[in-house]
Amino acid sequence: MKIQENVPLGSHTTFEIGGKARYYATVRTEDEIREAVAWARERKTRFVVLAGGSNVLLPDEGLDALVVCVESDDVSFLGNALEAEAGCNLAQLIHHASERGLGGWEKLAGIPGTLGGAVRGNAGAFGPEIKDFVVKVRALDTETGKTREFTNAACEFSYRQSFFKRHPEWIITRVLLELEPADPAESAKLIERTIAEREKRHIQNVRAAGSYFVNPVAPKDIRNMFEKEKGVKSREGRVPAGWLIEKVGLKGARVGGAVASEQHPNYLKNDGNATAEDVRTLAKMIQNAVRKQFGIELEEEAAVL
Ligand SMILES: Cc1cc2nc3c(=O)[nH]c(=O)nc-3n(C[C@H](O)[C@H](O)[C@H](O)COP(=O)(O)OP(=O)(O)OC[C@H]3O[C@@H](n4cnc5c(N)ncnc54)[C@H](O)[C@@H]3O)c2cc1C
Repeated sequence: MKIQENVPLGSHTTFEIGGKARYYATVRTEDEIREAVAWARERKTRFVVLAGGSNVLLPDEGLDALVVCVESDDVSFLGNALEAEAGCNLAQLIHHASERGLGGWEKLAGIPGTLGGAVRGNAGAFGPEIKDFVVKVRALDTETGKTREFTNAACEFSYRQSFFKRHPEWIITRVLLELEPADPAESAKLIERTIAEREKRHIQNVRAAGSYFVNPVAPKDIRNMFEKEKGVKSREGRVPAGWLIEKVGLKGARVGGAVASEQHPNYLKNDGNATAEDVRTLAKMIQNAVRKQFGIELEEEAAVL
């Protein structure tokens, strides 16, 4: 494991924001993770995991930490099962499985980032979530160095939540997924349609971290207002954070180089020269306005490290 110093982090994130990592290393195996943890502990340095960088906002002043980038990429298929290391790119895995006649999860196509990041945040799109396909997760406890296998139930998945999100001391290293037999041509079409639908809803090639806020649970009167206005049913008692941002008049709002997208206001975008401070200030402004008008607390989905 090679430790680099003062490594710029912005280019490692889809926001393209963030200062330097005091220390930086890439890891591919559990032993390398243990080695990195021990290295950081010896120096009493904070230990931070970064993967695809598609759901993080890193501070402008950088991180006085050892930032460890998970780059494991082993994949194996057995029957309908797919076992993959946490560093595998999710979109590539979906394509790869499709070519081998395995699908069911095509609606997750186009979600950037790694499998580990997706499991940690229970990533989802158009209904399905990664939890629907997870059989088992292997993870390493950075406090003890021990590994453990988690069943789907032990992962405590819920909307954009998991045991791992609540316990950042655990690093996901491998995931076993159960897929369905699928016709490769049909599956490929479904992937294509999904990606086209995503582009239609919001240009995907954007400097952002996807949805910045989690869609919040809302009281019945607000859900009714949403359903009446949009003609769609709210899911799990939640309303889209983007709709609330629009209702408080902050669609298109700007702080410095950070903008609440006109197309999808829950995408806080870096228009080229935004700082993390700009994004945080814009986020606070939105949270305050939504709290004031609706009494709803908007919670960040993107990890603010
Ligand atoms: C354009 C765009 C569209 C998006 N669309 C969607 C969408 O439709 N649905 C959706 O759910 N999300 C979406 N996202 C958000 C993002 O892609 C997902 O949250 C993704 O799963 C994050 O994975 P990552 O590897 O990039 O994680 P990172 O951003 O690198 O990390 C996110 C957090 O997870 C932790 N982490 C990463 N890997 C591990 C690991 N192996 N073990 C433990 N913790 C880990 C990190 O420490 C960090 O706290 C979108 C993002 C963008 C930029």
